[in-house]
Amino acid sequence: MIQVDDSGSGSFVGGTCIGIYRPETNEYYFDIIPVELYSVENFAKKKYLDEVVNIVEAAFRVLCPAEGEIIEVCRGYMFDRLKIWLTENGYRWYSTQITGQVQEIVEKSFELYAERLGLPGHYIKYTRYPFHFHKLLRWVYADFENRIRLCKVGWKCWQKIAGLTPDISDACICAPSFICMKCGRYIKPGSEIRVIRFVSNRENYVYLHKACHARRSFVRLPDATKGRSPGPSPYPDN
Ligand SMILES: [Zn+2]
Repeated sequence: MIQVDDSGSGSFVGGTCIGIYRPETNEYYFDIIPVELYSVENFAKKKYLDEVVNIVEAAFRVLCPAEGEIIEVCRGYMFDRLKIWLTENGYRWYSTQITGQVQEIVEKSFELYAERLGLPGHYIKYTRYPFHFHKLLRWVYADFENRIRLCKVGWKCWQKIAGLTPDISDACICAPSFICMKCGRYIKPGSEIRVIRFVSNRENYVYLHKACHARRSFVRLPDATKGRSPGPSPYPDN
């Protein structure tokens, strides 16, 4: 039997991991749907669904399914085009709720990938749930120019707020146990900090070491999907 599962499709940060597993022999193959396929244009065309087919096709070249070997496919929209491809190519497959070892392995693959993108460990748990979109946004706004490139910007919930301009101000932090969202290190009580405030579905605050807040990092990206130049930065100089 071969099982096909995904992880990260609900995470605003990163692409999506597709894992293919054969429990009898413990063979595993995975790949990541690149986040570029979640740009505004590609997302509208659901290009990520074609990439699922490409990844599974590559996995099958390695795993070589036996004649009549059962393929279990996780329920959900991620595999809509894969199911058509499986039928067209004569595979015996069915859709089911995938649980157990394969699910854990695919989730772990996505976690390691998210960690490599720079997402702190305590933030990775938010990548499992789409409703933590707003929590992931705080990490994104701490280094906007670099981190927005790692996000599924074609999502409608992002498009609704993509043009918002955060307020940037200085403050002095007194309480201990604040972590700089850019470098991930603790902020010493009594030190000067930069505060980024933005409103999504609620008011959000991001705290950074003053030295970690490089102004250039907050110049808004050109809209790559429309080929426009970025224009003047909407962010204040300080
Ligand atoms: Zn810092």
